Amino acid sequence: MNPFDYSRPPDWQAAVNSVATDAQAKFLGGGTNLIDLMKMGVETPDRLVDINRLPLAQVEELPGNTGIRIGALVRNSDLAEHPLITARYPVLSEALLSGASPQLRNLATTGGNLLQRTRCYYFYDPAFPMCNKRNPGSGCGALEGYNRIHAILGQSEQCIATHPSDMCVALAMLDAVVRVQGPAGERAIPIANFHRLPGITPNVDTNLQTNELITAVDLPAIPFATRSHYLKVRDRASYAFALVSVAAALELENGMIKSARIALGGVAHKPWRAAKAEQALAGKKVEAAAFSAAADAELAAAKGYQYNSFKIELAKRAIVQALTTVAALP
Ligand code: SF4
Repeated sequence: MNPFDYSRPPDWQAAVNSVATDAQAKFLGGGTNLIDLMKMGVETPDRLVDINRLPLAQVEELPGNTGIRIGALVRNSDLAEHPLITARYPVLSEALLSGASPQLRNLATTGGNLLQRTRCYYFYDPAFPMCNKRNPGSGCGALEGYNRIHAILGQSEQCIATHPSDMCVALAMLDAVVRVQGPAGERAIPIANFHRLPGITPNVDTNLQTNELITAVDLPAIPFATRSHYLKVRDRASYAFALVSVAAALELENGMIKSARIALGGVAHKPWRAAKAEQALAGKKVEAAAFSAAADAELAAAKGYQYNSFKIELAKRAIVQALTTVAALP
């Protein structure tokens, strides 16, 4: 591990200033991903700015019943068990509890979870020369390599990595808004614009500026989110990343689908909002044929590689299964 300086600023302004004046500095929250990457030599910050003592660990209601604000330092375990989340956004609680291990969830933060980096094997191994995300312009080892966990939607010739977070899939389905503070003040980034597709710059994961600090995540009030579910398909029952996951919610009326919300994990460089499936479901009867047609519409543009083509059919079946479960909820 490279040597680095460590500081613990007293407030968010000092934290932002520390990073704004040092391009190689990184914020330290739970550190559950960053420290791994530093040990591997993938991340080499010259300074860690520890934000753990900033007052950003509250979950509170927004005025006028407009939603919930989650502080950036709320631990994943605390968020998953919070009564406001289990009652109003069960999909988020399920997603959080399906991720990592209890020990990691006790440490990992909401803000840090948003910034998780891909688990592509080639990205994690600096001894492997080809990785456009780690070393822009070097090529992509996964394209012709072992690509079982890689993307089937939205990928580019430069990178076929997937985003590893479960929490972010639920946030994408819920239209969360990420609040950040930077030298120029506060701004709000809709979750759909927070993470990026790889394009020709796969080394850039998000639209967060390097000198901006995530302070909170807002969840809008969505009454029918009480009827929601997170389905995760993975190689073992716990402590594994999703091969495919689905966050789904349905607004139902007299046996018809008024509106649907679906997001997919494990299939793209960012949490994938399944807009085509949602459009296909609006106004349809609640029945398996409608779920299946929606899944087909969403995956029509999917492209697989040598080891991950199975994900296309798996994603379709996972969508149908998740919607079936949601439709049966009381
Ligand atoms: Fe690197 Fe992306 Fe290719 Fe993986 S898929 S080797 S992260 S460029």
